[in-house]
Amino acid sequence: MYLVKTSLRVKCSKCERDAVIRVPYAKLNLCKEHYVEYFEKRVLKTIERYKVFRDAKKVLIALSGGKDSLTILHVLTKYRDLLRVQLAGVHLDLGIGVYSDESRKIVLNACRDSGVECYIISLKDLLNYTLPELVEKTKRPPCSLCGLLKRYIFNTAALEWGYDVVVTGHHMDDILVFRLKEILIGREEGEVLKLLPYTESVKGLYAARARPLYETYEWEIRAYSELLGIKHIEVSCPFKYRDVISTNIAEMLEKIEKEVPGFEITLARRFARKTPRESSEVVISCKHCGMPSSSGICALCKLTMKTHGSPMGPSIRDALRNKRILLA
Ligand SMILES: [Zn+2]
Ligand SMILES: [Zn+2]
Repeated sequence: MYLVKTSLRVKCSKCERDAVIRVPYAKLNLCKEHYVEYFEKRVLKTIERYKVFRDAKKVLIALSGGKDSLTILHVLTKYRDLLRVQLAGVHLDLGIGVYSDESRKIVLNACRDSGVECYIISLKDLLNYTLPELVEKTKRPPCSLCGLLKRYIFNTAALEWGYDVVVTGHHMDDILVFRLKEILIGREEGEVLKLLPYTESVKGLYAARARPLYETYEWEIRAYSELLGIKHIEVSCPFKYRDVISTNIAEMLEKIEKEVPGFEITLARRFARKTPRESSEVVISCKHCGMPSSSGICALCKLTMKTHGSPMGPSIRDALRNKRILLA
């Protein structure tokens, strides 16, 4: 992180106060107040640049309990009147022991403090298995299972509850690592192409998706959340894993960024411009649950046919529609 060393007094580029942080790509040293203002302006600029809220009135924020999603909750709460949106949070309790218990509490408290309605969905109640139990049963990598479940559940929840857009806390560093990895292994297609600041809705199948931290570095989010004392889960997910290709890409990006400040922003903007709006992928509704699929059976129904013996999509939709699974 680019914290200014306290032994050397560096003045804020915008006022007389001492700077607490350096923003290399903008050649700015900023005090706490001016950094907070700078950070929020950049997020609002991203929202405006990519029109991520277009005509959206009801916004559902996917909250994991980590600093990224709680930061976006904080910023959107502060500017909800300006943005003219009504906010709600949604959290999937994955049943990963203390990690999940803590995450759930943090999300609930953050929403309560922000005056934002909060939906907590328990995976165990919904599917009868926790994430560790599903990993054990399927032998699939936990991160890919977790991604599949969250995509399905949050998208279905948004459609069933009438939300126009699902907001996630994906930041620029992670998005670039995903995209570059797909290029490196010659597989640039599918889900990763949807990692854009905004993905349009498909009537009845997909709620729109917005990523307001698309042009924000992870260190900027960490600095903002630390300076403002935004509570988030401190321990990382016990399943957290980064493969060797992603680790190397992340290190390479960091090295280039050090020598060419702002490189990542240029790259992220180029990706956003160059990605075709219309995906070449054919989307049809799943014959079991009606949710999006490429082959006629969606990923969730395919998965649960193996784990449960029958597709669980229809019962998940039903449970979400009737809000039977909500803990709060
Ligand atoms: Zn200042
Ligand atoms: Zn299905």
